Amino acid sequence: MHGAVVVVGGGVVGASVAYHLAARGVRDVVVLDGAPAPGAGSTGRATGGFRVQFASAINVRLSLLARERLRAFAEETGGDCGYVPAGYLWIARNEAELTPLRAALAVQRANGVGDAREVDAAEVVALNPALARDGITGGTYCPSDGFIRPLGILDGYRTAAERLGARFVWEVAVVGARRGAGGRMDALHTTRGDIACDVVVNAAGAWAGLVGDALGVDVPVVPLRRQVAITVPTDALPASMPMTIFADGFHLRVRDGRVLLLLPTAGADDPFDDAVEPEWIDTVAWAAHARVPCLRAIPVDRSNCWAGLYEMSPDGNAILGPAPGTPNLYLANGSSGHGVMHAPALGLLLAEMIVDGAAHTLDVTALRADRFAPTDVACASELL
Ligand SMILES: Cc1cc2nc3c(=O)[nH]c(=O)nc-3n(C[C@H](O)[C@H](O)[C@H](O)COP(=O)(O)OP(=O)(O)OC[C@H]3O[C@@H](n4cnc5c(N)ncnc54)[C@H](O)[C@@H]3O)c2cc1C
Repeated sequence: MHGAVVVVGGGVVGASVAYHLAARGVRDVVVLDGAPAPGAGSTGRATGGFRVQFASAINVRLSLLARERLRAFAEETGGDCGYVPAGYLWIARNEAELTPLRAALAVQRANGVGDAREVDAAEVVALNPALARDGITGGTYCPSDGFIRPLGILDGYRTAAERLGARFVWEVAVVGARRGAGGRMDALHTTRGDIACDVVVNAAGAWAGLVGDALGVDVPVVPLRRQVAITVPTDALPASMPMTIFADGFHLRVRDGRVLLLLPTAGADDPFDDAVEPEWIDTVAWAAHARVPCLRAIPVDRSNCWAGLYEMSPDGNAILGPAPGTPNLYLANGSSGHGVMHAPALGLLLAEMIVDGAAHTLDVTALRADRFAPTDVACASELL
């Protein structure tokens, strides 16, 4: 087998890269994935939040670019990204929590976000009347933030890429590489034999560090478990409720007639462990009952709770572009929990780098792979 460009990983990021390469006229794109079918990685576990409310200029700009592309997604790919601008409501319960929300708002405004604003305690409760009023200081709100369908975006890009000639091959894991002149990768070793390649893209999500190890390249990305509790079907909260996120990390949304509850915790001892801890379900349910009283009557559907892995980089931002030391390897890694919402932008920008030699739609210097010192280790990001 041969691929002009071989993409390792067929999650939402790999599919977006494949689509954008094919759309730019690259005819020989092969995506290899060790899983038996699409969606087995983190993309299939994501809850589907979309926001421009970030604290760094690069993430705000990636979100604005991604939002533009999500709005044109159906026309461009024929798929359904499920973008619903239900809003994101950030809540502070004291001045110390409000300060970083205000600072982030200033960054958002400076980078072209027109509709995010600070809200006082009364407006927080007006935007989400189900909240317990006590202890809310204020927050920020952006009405064009909201929800997306992770598997809809993956399928949209995958099928559009396939129509343009890209191939997705499942149950083929990349396990090594053969190097040629100047350190270039001539071929990838896989569980089903070798594949010759001109260019390689690492899009292996939380497994990007392991793929890096197999290829002999340091990719500072590690997994971080995120657990999700889901209630039984209920109409206690409206489908139109904004994503409601407290500055300490507890957040909730309504999806498909159930309420999803999330609360960051420390990772598991085994970093790739994606089991749900029963004690964690108790903790997140307790937080929900205290902050959203109507949920006291709505049980958690314990058997349907799930967990998945964030793909953490040392600074919590994506790593996008050429890999240091290997001329024909590119990285699309480390989105650190924002990979679905940013995939439309990341795929476009990486295709520009590969085809044109540089990204021109957005300055992504901040995401270059060589920004880390060799000793940097991946860690949890700030929430914002
Ligand atoms: C609980 C949870 C909630 C989340 N919520 C959101 C959200 O609301 N919004 C958002 O934007 N993001 C969210 N995320 C993050 C999001 O899921 C990820 O950022 C995104 O899915 C990363 O996409 P990816 O394509 O890089 O990785 P993945 O979807 O994990 O795809 C990587 C693929 O690489 C394959 N692979 C691994 N090793 C190899 C190998 N050696 N050879 C071949 N293939 C290999 C895997 O099988 C996998 O299919 C959430 C994540 C979790 C866990």
